[in-house]
Amino acid sequence: MKTDIEIAQTSHGVPITDIAEKLNLSTDEVEQYGHLKAKIKTSVLNRLKDRPDGKLILVTSINPTNAGEGKSTVTIGLGDALNALGKQAVIALREPSLGPVMGTKGGATGGGYSQVMPMADINLHFTGDMHAITTANNTLSALIDNHIYQGNELQIDPRRVIWKRVLDINDRSLRQTTIGLGGLKQGVPREEQFEITVASEIMAVICLAKNLADLTSRLSNIIIGYTFQNEPITVGDLNAEGVLTLLLKDALKPNLVQTLYQTPAFIHGGPFGNIAHGCNSVVATKMALKLGDFVVTEAGFGADLGAEKFLDIKVPILEKAPDAIVIVATIRALKMHGGVPHDELTIENPEALKLGVANLEKHVQNMQKYGLPVIVAVNQFTSDTDKELALLTRLCEDLGAIVEITSSWSDGYQGSLALAEKVISIIEEDSSDFEAVYSFGMTIEEKAETIVKELYGGDGVFFTDKAKEQIEIFKKYGWDRLPICMAKTQFSLSDDPKKVGRPSEFTVVIRELVPKMGAGFIVAFTGDIMTMPSLPKEPAALKMSVDSNGSIKGLF
Ligand code: ADP
Repeated sequence: MKTDIEIAQTSHGVPITDIAEKLNLSTDEVEQYGHLKAKIKTSVLNRLKDRPDGKLILVTSINPTNAGEGKSTVTIGLGDALNALGKQAVIALREPSLGPVMGTKGGATGGGYSQVMPMADINLHFTGDMHAITTANNTLSALIDNHIYQGNELQIDPRRVIWKRVLDINDRSLRQTTIGLGGLKQGVPREEQFEITVASEIMAVICLAKNLADLTSRLSNIIIGYTFQNEPITVGDLNAEGVLTLLLKDALKPNLVQTLYQTPAFIHGGPFGNIAHGCNSVVATKMALKLGDFVVTEAGFGADLGAEKFLDIKVPILEKAPDAIVIVATIRALKMHGGVPHDELTIENPEALKLGVANLEKHVQNMQKYGLPVIVAVNQFTSDTDKELALLTRLCEDLGAIVEITSSWSDGYQGSLALAEKVISIIEEDSSDFEAVYSFGMTIEEKAETIVKELYGGDGVFFTDKAKEQIEIFKKYGWDRLPICMAKTQFSLSDDPKKVGRPSEFTVVIRELVPKMGAGFIVAFTGDIMTMPSLPKEPAALKMSVDSNGSIKGLF
């Protein structure tokens, strides 16, 4: 089997204008970025506002392991198969962040014969959205520090600035730093922390804004810190929402590309799945729903984080719930949830598989709690044995779940036809009856308890004294009426990454809450969540190169 980049390089694709034409977009709605990429103007949403939305399929997964699950691969394969079955299918995915691409995770353009293209461009600089978000974020930082330096009319306490600088690189040395050193003319010294660009609240804002006006209003609401009297200061207080919107005006427009089989795909927005909501932009998903009959989208990490936030945070803004949920599982990952170490995953092990299915079971039950029909997609690896595949199918059926094996990674769209047929038939049954698991009117404590007890399977929540104090402050400002965005490890249903499978008898500790008034949610920090990742001992970056003919190597 060829590598992802080798497969990607064999496909030349069709001009992006052909893909746009397939979606009935007019030429003045398409801003081309070269031959294979385009940004689509948000005016399309206005033009099509009265067209009914297409059907929405949300792809999510079991808790990820380092065995890999392949959500993007399955999402793309399913979109291709729906297209091959004659449906107007549109895919809506997140944009990759360069940090993880250079680290270990790999790209975010799918894999094997289920890929979006141009793969290298999308994984590198793409259409410049990450640059725009980084620049807007750091312009705000510079404006804050300049304000403090120039007399500090707003009385911003330099020790209470919560707005952080960002970079789209995994750079651990910038996690804690000091700025403004060097004397009177070099600014006011204060501690600073860098985060990765996808952790910036501006990324979450871009992904939740409905249009330019909403973008400006959300940007204006962002809290950047507190005064010496401990009162919140917003971007609006600094009068900076105008310039930030200006820097972001093109980044708000969804990016259109195609799959290896010419299925239209929007790749737009990529907020962190733990401290943010982890789904692509509302604007891109809405556009896909207006242009396609079937939209396949993906939420980050496992269903406990990505799907929960899609359903509780994104759906109210999108004003459209999924018509079906696809939960991706692999035999390898389930065996890891059953206790098998990474280097033994290719050995047949039905007992471990049976144990690991407990993790899948919880996610199936959780999605059913939202009133949504669920299909399990088993992403087939070449190391899977027939016995294991048959066993997993039977175990899923025992759970009452619809299940299908998909092999689009090795077989392209043909490998997902059976899955696509099942998805169509479940959607035609129209059994989706969406209901959120909590209401915004509940208190912060009630919302967090509901998520932990109902979805994680824990006993409850322990709030540290700091978190309790914050809740009191949040109540004073009315911020407690917002949804909760849990910042939790993706590897476990609990807040302990080592507890794989389906843990029970645990309490989740919420140590800190952060108001994200632009995004419109409260982040609840549990465990040790890093907002600036680091590079491993052997970074993927060191395998990458480009030869004198421009041919790329090592990009997965
Ligand atoms: P996720 O979206 O869950 O992070 P991806 O779809 O991006 O996962 O896939 C991660 C990596 O795993 C990619 O490099 C992809 O090529 C690989 N992969 C996915 N599915 C398979 C499979 N069935 N067999 C082998 N490798 C796969």
